[in-house]
Amino acid sequence: MNLEEEFRVAPGSRVQLRDSDADRTPGVNREEGEREHAKNVVRIRDLQHRLYAEGRRSLLVVLQGMDAAGKDGTIRHVFGPTNPQGVQVSAFGKPTSNELAHDYLWRVHSRAPSRGHIGVFNRSHYEDVLIVRVLGLVPDKAWKRRYDHINAFEEMLVDEGTTVLKFFLHVSADEQLKRLTKRLTNPAKAWKYNAEDFSKRSRRPAYVEAYEDMLEKCSTKHAPWHVIPADNKWFRNHAIAGIVADRLEHMDPELPELPEDGHRMRETLEGTREG
Ligand code: AMP
Ligand code: MG
Repeated sequence: MNLEEEFRVAPGSRVQLRDSDADRTPGVNREEGEREHAKNVVRIRDLQHRLYAEGRRSLLVVLQGMDAAGKDGTIRHVFGPTNPQGVQVSAFGKPTSNELAHDYLWRVHSRAPSRGHIGVFNRSHYEDVLIVRVLGLVPDKAWKRRYDHINAFEEMLVDEGTTVLKFFLHVSADEQLKRLTKRLTNPAKAWKYNAEDFSKRSRRPAYVEAYEDMLEKCSTKHAPWHVIPADNKWFRNHAIAGIVADRLEHMDPELPELPEDGHRMRETLEGTREG
């Protein structure tokens, strides 16, 4: 199955998240999915090495999803085996006063991956049309015009050599509650507990509408959104790693060849040894 085609949101189309089953695992069972995943992370690691060595282009992976959707787990399972030197992970929480003193894209742009790198955004500029909209942190008129800014910003990144892939991790209300409850009962997860997650959950319909608008308005040809069924962690990992690996393969980064002066250096060294 072509994972990218399966989960990509066609530009301008409306996804009904309520009708989209967060529990589905099309095309694979768990055993096959985990086997594929093990292969995909090796593909990503090798391709990342080539991207780094080539040093000309970059890949930006944007992760969005409700609390406990699995953004942190995705980063661990998909990018864990890569060379940390070549991956730049950025998490975007509540803006600091310095960040609030600038436009909303400022902090995001400064974290865009440099050439040769993979950038991973754990949340992103999309928070500025999600939580900001739902909590009414700016007037309606202000967030409504952001979709156009965001599309133009991402297109600029693409034009300048960054490939952009965006993933919405779709969890059902039941699975989300299960995971949030674990933070209350499992001491190892207590550090993730945040009362706000429960109040946000009670606004789920408003968030769903904000996510649906985001997917409709900002899945573009240059920077597509993918809706990943994320109730099953193994499937989520399998789907995202598969799409990332395929895209890197398509980018086909090239290991640079030895430059002219390197050849001369080799000849000199060989001459010395022979002489
Ligand atoms: P976490 O991902 O658990 O560390 O939580 C980060 C929190 O910061 C989430 O509740 C986000 O919705 C929130 N957040 C991220 N960006 C913004 C923003 N631009 N304005 C307000 N809240 C934000
Ligand atoms: Mg949290």
